[in-house]
Amino acid sequence: PYDGPSAAEIARKRAEFLSPSLFHFYSKPLNIVEGKMQYLYDEQGRRYLDAFAGIATVCCGHSHPEILDAITAQARRLQHSTVLYLNHAIADFAEALASKLPGDLKARAALAHYGCCIVFFTNSGTEANELAILMARLYTGSHDIISLRNSYHGNAAGTMGATAQKNWKFNVVQSGVHHAVNPDPYRGAFGADADKYVRDVQEIVEFGTTGHVAGFISEAIQGVGGIVELSPGYLPLAYETVRKAGGLCIADEVQAGFARVGSHFWGFETHGVVPDIVTMAKGIGNGIPLGAVVTTPEIARVLTRRCYFNTFGGNPLCTAGGLAVLRVLHKERLQENAFVVGSYLKDRLRGLQEKHDIIGDVRGTGFMLGVELVTDRQLKTPARDEICRAMEHMKDMGVLVGKGGFYGNVFRITPPLCFTKEDADFFVEVMDIALSKL
Ligand code: PMP
Repeated sequence: PYDGPSAAEIARKRAEFLSPSLFHFYSKPLNIVEGKMQYLYDEQGRRYLDAFAGIATVCCGHSHPEILDAITAQARRLQHSTVLYLNHAIADFAEALASKLPGDLKARAALAHYGCCIVFFTNSGTEANELAILMARLYTGSHDIISLRNSYHGNAAGTMGATAQKNWKFNVVQSGVHHAVNPDPYRGAFGADADKYVRDVQEIVEFGTTGHVAGFISEAIQGVGGIVELSPGYLPLAYETVRKAGGLCIADEVQAGFARVGSHFWGFETHGVVPDIVTMAKGIGNGIPLGAVVTTPEIARVLTRRCYFNTFGGNPLCTAGGLAVLRVLHKERLQENAFVVGSYLKDRLRGLQEKHDIIGDVRGTGFMLGVELVTDRQLKTPARDEICRAMEHMKDMGVLVGKGGFYGNVFRITPPLCFTKEDADFFVEVMDIALSKL
């Protein structure tokens, strides 16, 4: 039994000592004291089915024993900053991770007489994207970056500039970043017409830059933006346009990567593209702070022009954990589970859409699913209050789900990849009751 401080006591400390910008979803914030695979427990021992996984972060399950063992064994042996001495944990994980990248990226590395791709470790997705943007600028000698409206790429100077939603932007200097029209099939100006959206990328190159750009960054499925899938055929055309302008293509796999989309290991693979730089975080560490940038040796070499160093990026504790994550994903066939159960869950959510007018759209792939609530299907009026009430009802029935999207009206369903068919059924039943209560 839990014998720590009460929820009220923690809330008081949080209000007194922690950032006033912190927010939480529920009228009475939950005090989560323990996690086990797809379940979380509060201080009363009440169990919740976790369908958000700390924002698509816990991929193998909370406190997965094999990952815990790897981390604690490494912590007992050595925990150190990263690069001053040799240590096998970082090298082993870099090797294993590089082998997960698609053949084309590896083939390009081989052309440059390297065996494989190059891995840089960071502590977060923000850092990974900052580094990717830096490398694209150095490699191309250009400055302009194109990102998509409604995207989220991080909250440091460069990535906050690339992020394109006012909800997440402060008074940041935005020079050298252009936001292309979002190829959003549900709300986008051109429906699902990829050609029209790509025309905007072309026009940015022609009218907003010298004709040369440093790069293009995009999520495969926008996470924070409300599980927005890009119009089919968009990414290959956008990559082609950007490459013609001399730019590199960066895939932000912070949410969509690491087996979450089910059909593939990486989200970009569902679009049939091969990026020049891949960034990742969240799922890669199953909850421990870890991020990475993977690219070709040729691009990686730009960082030898100066000193580049990250104190904790790739430290032995985190990389030992990362290697265990890859092992568990493989051993427990979690990508396959994300595909099978994710497809089943999406079908069941589509069924729910037939019953509830408030569901305007069901979308996503694998275990990266979105359910958008609208009060009017024609006008697509965001059901902002309704979603908050529904989340509260779902929590009361023992289910935790995320929400997001520009209007805050999209359920984000990104559970740990060990989520079962029974969990999916329970989730849908609970959502059905919650929506019926509105
Ligand atoms: N990219 C994407 C797609 C993300 O969803 C996030 C985090 N929500 C980030 C980058 C930034 O990652 P972090 O919070 O680890 O800095």
